[in-house]
Amino acid sequence: MATKLPKVPVVIVGMGWAGGIIASELTKAGVKVVGIERGKDRTTSDYLMGHDELRYQHRTELMQDLSKETITSRNNRSMTALPMRSYGTFIVGDGVGGAGSHWNGQTYRFLPYDFEIKTLTEQKYGPNKVKPEYTIQDWGITYDEIEPYYDKFEKMAGISGETVELYGKRSNPYPTGPMVKTPIMKEFEKVTKKLGFSPYVIPSSNLSETYKNPDGIQRGACQYCAYCENFGCEYGAKADPAVTVIPVAKNTGNLDLRTHSNVTRILNDGKKATGVFYVNTITGEEFEQPADVVVVASYVFNNVRLLLNSGLGKPYNPETGTGAIGKNYCYQVTGGATTIFFNDKEFNLYGGAGALGMELPDFTGDNFDHSNLNFIHGAGIRVTQYGNRPIANNTVPKGTPSWGAEFKKQSIKYANSTFPVKVQAASMPHRENYLDLDPTYKDAYGMPLLRMTYDYTEQDREIVKYMAQITKKIAKEFGADIMETNEEQAPFNVNKDGNTHNTGGVIMGADSETSAVNSYLQMWDAENVFVAGASAFPHNSNYNPTGTLSALSYRAAEGIIKYIQQGGLLV
Ligand SMILES: Cc1cc2nc3c(=O)[nH]c(=O)nc-3n(C[C@H](O)[C@H](O)[C@H](O)COP(=O)(O)OP(=O)(O)OC[C@H]3O[C@@H](n4cnc5c(N)ncnc54)[C@H](O)[C@@H]3O)c2cc1C
Ligand code: SF4
Repeated sequence: MATKLPKVPVVIVGMGWAGGIIASELTKAGVKVVGIERGKDRTTSDYLMGHDELRYQHRTELMQDLSKETITSRNNRSMTALPMRSYGTFIVGDGVGGAGSHWNGQTYRFLPYDFEIKTLTEQKYGPNKVKPEYTIQDWGITYDEIEPYYDKFEKMAGISGETVELYGKRSNPYPTGPMVKTPIMKEFEKVTKKLGFSPYVIPSSNLSETYKNPDGIQRGACQYCAYCENFGCEYGAKADPAVTVIPVAKNTGNLDLRTHSNVTRILNDGKKATGVFYVNTITGEEFEQPADVVVVASYVFNNVRLLLNSGLGKPYNPETGTGAIGKNYCYQVTGGATTIFFNDKEFNLYGGAGALGMELPDFTGDNFDHSNLNFIHGAGIRVTQYGNRPIANNTVPKGTPSWGAEFKKQSIKYANSTFPVKVQAASMPHRENYLDLDPTYKDAYGMPLLRMTYDYTEQDREIVKYMAQITKKIAKEFGADIMETNEEQAPFNVNKDGNTHNTGGVIMGADSETSAVNSYLQMWDAENVFVAGASAFPHNSNYNPTGTLSALSYRAAEGIIKYIQQGGLLV
């Protein structure tokens, strides 16, 4: 029998960037918040002497335990979905900070084009440019409306970067200057400028210099230690909710943080939420936490799963295209890269940081003419220097045996002489790509798992072919001795594909027919439920999502405060 706890004003499910930002903004405004997190609490001291590649990179210590909870995946509706038993494609966070503890920190804004993609595409290319099965839609917010929230996030996190012409307008420069340019970045800059492109340093949450943010949180500069992606930062140089927004919320005295607590359902009366039901993951005790407002910030997958398991909102139906929960799931597309090998050039590739690199804005959004192309949007073309780590990084030319003396010889030869010119392309929503509940598999608490039905589309394959030609051109200009281009996009494989940017499923928009939440991330069908995270994105841009989901979380926090004061739908 569950223990019923006293009612609270706000309960937040999940303490990553989305939950942490909302907790910080509400508690600073004097609102009492209960923050429920299924994993443990963390600080920078957890990572002291933590450069253990086996522990963090390969045994994924900071991530969700897939033996307790996972997703099931299939490529289309005629297949039976099977559980993802080991990490490959996306790596889901667990514990205070969420994936914001082990992320890379590449912190972009989306383009003005992204927020009004349907209107702007149709205006320029006509109503038939995009086939009807691609369910693109405007976001119900414009770039100008979201800009102040981007600015707020960047100041809080201390983003290091340089202003780029082909982006939307900024009200302020980045609060800290760009990261240093390593030799491969300088080469990339040189060759791409020669080709007429406009390279820029990737905006970074790894601080380029010591920085004190408006909340008074001071953090030191990045050491380019290379143990960044999939690791926590012992210096606090990487912006992480656990070293920025969550300590601020704790210091107000208004945050009651409950860790090791897994929410299995949002309690509701069919119209509004009444609270949440959760299980202590250590003792097995069950609790009912009544609340006036429920914020669901448990990442894309659990945001959708919790709503579906709680009967909140209308589930998406791919047969009819109706319903919004589970609609417009998008991933990102990474085919088209060219790996370069040099026989007689060496770079120090073993130093680096999660957000260190240079990128081109020339082939993103609508920054280039799509009149004669079979796709819309585009890709970021980039070189990055995360810092090679000895187990993961042994890139050898095709045809080399994958073990033995020859593998060792080639691995040593190219250790500092190979890197890819990468592609990260936008993903447009498709009627057949969606999320729902799996009819067979359940988690450790007996709740149905989330089922993903997803494959790359024709639009994705066309982008890949186009971008492959550009990366080849750049590699040639680099003077590569060996070039290997991934020319075609293979079918989606949940155990293999390498990108962890999932979006959609609880999308935002201007009306309740086509979206689940409004521009404050408030549910149309349950006004006291706010669903924060990249689940709100109607499509996925080519940029990494966290800058945008964090900006939207600042706006959601503003909306929740308004809702507490006045009630009702805010839009
Ligand atoms: C290796 C890696 C590198 C990345 N690099 C970048 C990058 O460079 N740039 C970028 O923009 N993005 C990057 N990302 C993505 C980024 O980390 C996420 O977009 C972001 O952290 C999502 O924030 P969130 O708050 O929505 O979700 P999360 O950070 O996942 O937080 C959700 C929290 O909810 C908790 N939770 C889930 N379910 C429940 C439940 N039922 N009950 C209680 N608690 C629950 C989880 O434990 C978690 O702590 C990266 C991700 C990974 C994995
Ligand atoms: S590379 Fe920089 S930000 Fe990343 S973990 Fe190392 S010191 Fe921290």
